[in-house]
Amino acid sequence: MKCSQGENFSKGELQRFGNIELSPCAGILNYGQGLFEGLKAHRKYDGNILLFRPDENAIRLRMGAERMCMPSPTVEQFVEAVKEIVLANERWIPPSGKGSLYIRPLLMGSGAVLGLAPATEYTFLIYVSPVGNYFKEGLAPIHLIVETEMHRATPGGTGGIKTIGNYAGVLKTQSAAKAKGFSDVLYLDSVHKRYLEEVSSCNIFVVKGNVIFTPAIKGTILPGITRKSIIDVAVSQGYQVEERLITVDELLDADEVFCTGTAVVISPVGSIAYLGKRVSYGRDGVGLVSQQLYSALTSLQMGLTEDKMNWIVALK
Ligand code: PMP
Repeated sequence: MKCSQGENFSKGELQRFGNIELSPCAGILNYGQGLFEGLKAHRKYDGNILLFRPDENAIRLRMGAERMCMPSPTVEQFVEAVKEIVLANERWIPPSGKGSLYIRPLLMGSGAVLGLAPATEYTFLIYVSPVGNYFKEGLAPIHLIVETEMHRATPGGTGGIKTIGNYAGVLKTQSAAKAKGFSDVLYLDSVHKRYLEEVSSCNIFVVKGNVIFTPAIKGTILPGITRKSIIDVAVSQGYQVEERLITVDELLDADEVFCTGTAVVISPVGSIAYLGKRVSYGRDGVGLVSQQLYSALTSLQMGLTEDKMNWIVALK
């Protein structure tokens, strides 16, 4: 789909996957005018295809587009385009329980612009790929290192939207963490340097007794759709959930820690390294709360349990 600044997107068309042509002066290449989303299609045991809250991705993309001076497709256009591309690629959706089809919508300033300004033309495209688990560990624990020098986002910046530049900024810390044997990086806030923010591509939750904490959304962390859903699922299962500031020291006496995201689903955290010390969780790192919430979410996404919240969009 294409549109000019100040206009609306018209209906797009399906195209075979391949390279796209861009002007060297495209807004996305020069000034980072790009936003993306990530969602998954799951195969139900009866062959149906299920999407999980695609309207939430559309709403988040629109919020980001507003911040980045970009026009965006309507929620309906977004969801219809996702449905169309998933159905056209049905053969790539793995059998139930064996993976999913990852869907990557991308909105960009594709028009040429030389001086710093919003591009005059925009492109919205979606591509898909079958995927397995994001972390090679699966529902086995992941290991995080707290980053104390570099930050993912600053107040008033773009940390709360899914713009491409946020991800370029974490490549260095993430690669360094992986080279040391960690699965990913846990970022702290850039002002006090002591409050938990999030991991490179997922949100974080801390469990202490019957209470589950997660950093409040204040513009510097991505408002994850899995995060929002897990809060509701946890509350419906009787947990008390608090969205608030969490100091890095609170990790020391937590019972469990887990991460949430479309790609990672729920990943239990086995250990966290901070300033040379390492805290481990549980005997094998896969806590009961993480396990329970993982089963609740994945059974819902795969159509194994009743969709009481009306979150599932079935394509057939
Ligand atoms: N934080 C960041 C930085 C992310 O990239 C993601 C993945 N979109 C998330 C959190 C989790 O968001 P969601 O649950 O919507 O996938």
